[in-house]
Amino acid sequence: AAASPAGSQLGELRLRGVSRAYGSYTALHPLDLTIRGGEFVALLGPSGCGKTTALNCLAGLLPLTAGEIVLDGRRVDTVPPEKRGFGMVFQNYALFPHLTVRGNVAFGLKMRGVGRAETTRRVDEVLRLVRLTEQAHKHPGQLSGGQQQRVAIARAIVMEPPLVLMDEPLSNLDAALRLEMRSEIRRIHQEFGLTTVYVTHDQEEALSLADRLVVLEAGRVSQIGTPAELYEHPADPHVAAFMGYRNLLALDVVSVRGSRAVVQRRGLRLTGTLVGGGPVAEGREATVAIRPEDVRVAGPGEQPIAEAVAQIVEYHGRALHVEAVTGDGDRIHLRADGGIRPGDALAVTVDADRALLFPSPGTGPGP
Ligand code: ATP
Repeated sequence: AAASPAGSQLGELRLRGVSRAYGSYTALHPLDLTIRGGEFVALLGPSGCGKTTALNCLAGLLPLTAGEIVLDGRRVDTVPPEKRGFGMVFQNYALFPHLTVRGNVAFGLKMRGVGRAETTRRVDEVLRLVRLTEQAHKHPGQLSGGQQQRVAIARAIVMEPPLVLMDEPLSNLDAALRLEMRSEIRRIHQEFGLTTVYVTHDQEEALSLADRLVVLEAGRVSQIGTPAELYEHPADPHVAAFMGYRNLLALDVVSVRGSRAVVQRRGLRLTGTLVGGGPVAEGREATVAIRPEDVRVAGPGEQPIAEAVAQIVEYHGRALHVEAVTGDGDRIHLRADGGIRPGDALAVTVDADRALLFPSPGTGPGP
């Protein structure tokens, strides 16, 4: 439940076959997505995958090539952006430099003709929410990057928009501030009961913020799901890579038994779990996806999947991140507790249910 009287006015936003082409180039293939009121949805994907195109279509900044956008049963894709009333927080949040924080946040309400008392009440409430009450009299030039970003958020949500659109809002901030603002955005989202669509190429940001993620690749949806669904059951190697499966290896299927298969190539041999029920069969090639945190140095009596020599050892808080190379040149990312130096020979292992097997592209009929 929203702590604020504003809250989200949105029941449901439906995108049906929304697509966008630039000339003959299709930047966004037909996208179907239903966003529920109060939901936080992240559009995630590498540069050029069509995230901003999708967001701009939602905002009305870009006409659709095909499809429709329906807000609580009402078509909005032909409605101009200012009439949609969506809040927007973009990378370059262009605050008015000559107005105070309060003036910046109140600006939209004044434009809309909201009365003085009502404006003061709403601005006070939003400033409190983004923790800028003390800074209300300052000008943007006197604020830190994170404070400026919070003004931009306050300015958007004070209008009580049915939907807030954010495009890489944290990309101009340094690492520490990005982390801090990430939890701020989440908190504000929850307290205000906002419905949010958030564009990012940062998988950690998307995983930590969103209720659901839409992973895009070359203008198409690879997968839509909760962070846990995508993390545990990535639909393809591309999503897996995005979810932190840094080990993607092409191996040959030796045998298949139920949902398990043994794969090997050169000095690597392991058992993995088949995902997606694809055509992984004996004699075919499979892509194995394993997270570095699921690869470790084999204990005494454990069967290693490979022998490899540590090349790069990085300290990551409690664990070491190790990059090791097998005799055949395969690169393996793993975690270790300590005591490993570059040049050390390692016998590495992975639990069978932690390695995912995908049919390699072009090895089967596909979906
Ligand atoms: P980034 O993270 O780099 O912003 P993105 O995922 O947001 O990338 P988009 O900006 O949506 O990607 O662009 C998707 C594709 O459409 C890209 O290949 C891009 O080159 C192309 N594109 C974007 N705008 C135009 C345009 N006005 N004219 C032609 N092609 C465009």
